[in-house]
Amino acid sequence: MEAFRDGYDVARPSAFELFAEHQLDGHFKPALAFVVAHYAQRFPRYLIPLLNRIDEVHLLLAAVANAYYLRIWNGSVAQNFYNLRLASSAAILAGHGHIPLTRRLRRHALLALLLPAYLGAKLDAFFQLDRPEAEQQLDELLLDDDPQDAVAAPANPTAPHRTAWRRQVWYTRSRAVYRHLKRVMGLVSLLLQLGYLTDRSRWFSWPLALAGLEPVRIAQADVARKDAMDAARLAAAVGDAVPPAATRLGRLRRAARVALAASRARAVQHAHHVLPAGIMIYRFLEWWQTSELAQGPADPIPPPPPPLAPHPKGVAVPEDPRACPLCGAAPRVTPAALPSGYVFCYTCIVPSLQEHRRCPVTWAPMDVSAVRRLYVSD
Ligand SMILES: [Zn+2]
Repeated sequence: MEAFRDGYDVARPSAFELFAEHQLDGHFKPALAFVVAHYAQRFPRYLIPLLNRIDEVHLLLAAVANAYYLRIWNGSVAQNFYNLRLASSAAILAGHGHIPLTRRLRRHALLALLLPAYLGAKLDAFFQLDRPEAEQQLDELLLDDDPQDAVAAPANPTAPHRTAWRRQVWYTRSRAVYRHLKRVMGLVSLLLQLGYLTDRSRWFSWPLALAGLEPVRIAQADVARKDAMDAARLAAAVGDAVPPAATRLGRLRRAARVALAASRARAVQHAHHVLPAGIMIYRFLEWWQTSELAQGPADPIPPPPPPLAPHPKGVAVPEDPRACPLCGAAPRVTPAALPSGYVFCYTCIVPSLQEHRRCPVTWAPMDVSAVRRLYVSD
């Protein structure tokens, strides 16, 4: 296949920039969940419902943030962090890659950026494919892909049974279809990325390809456009707020307002570093919490609590540590321990507990369910 563009294109980002951008994009939701889960411990009434709907909360926030960035910078938050923006493939082919996106293309971009990830997360959860790898592998062993084999029809089906069985068959079958679809989409993504890396594909990801958009580097023209927008907004703010000043006090107030508006504009300009920096800090905290460094040197094993003293009404503890306090057999037959720490023959302790519901030595109340067999190898 021929290269799509002649020679080296400075606007075309490298595959590694796009890998990094995708990675950053994927961290926003876990970071949001991490923060919400942290504060949910303090404000459970308000935040637990949010935590249960974290996919929707993330979708909403991502839609607002990305719509803003698309309007100002023609790219998503993550793209902007890596100095990338989106351009329509048609415009690039026609040599107009620098023109801003139309409102319609911005809408398409927003859908392509958000919808596949959201739907994927929802379907993964529905088909229980969002759990750790090991659990899923266990599922694969238990759940056969062929639903007719996996779910046997009930022998004498009543109407509700038959409905439940049909639903189960439907679920198993669609789960298998979804898993195959996911594998195919994974393969398509991989091929696109390999194609992009080797200059054989225009697109790095299929949602943007479907929307007819591709990432390009932010150019001088984009920065100039943004500066012009900022300047216009600043002028509008100052012009609205302050009437032309005649007196000295008026001029002073006007200067103060200009300084304030300018610093506010600068704050907004730097705000887009805050979110990615927060992600980095979150990643660090997450790593720190699981790392051995944070856990410090291993604590020494705490000493066992002192043994419960024998009760005056209880049986005496035999001299031989291997002997059963109830029958005196040494060693004990099928030894069994109680939470009090004393060990008896299993056949001695069970009837004793059934009768008295107390440890025979310490007189501490307990019942048969507390007995633990000990498997001692000689
Ligand atoms: Zn015994």
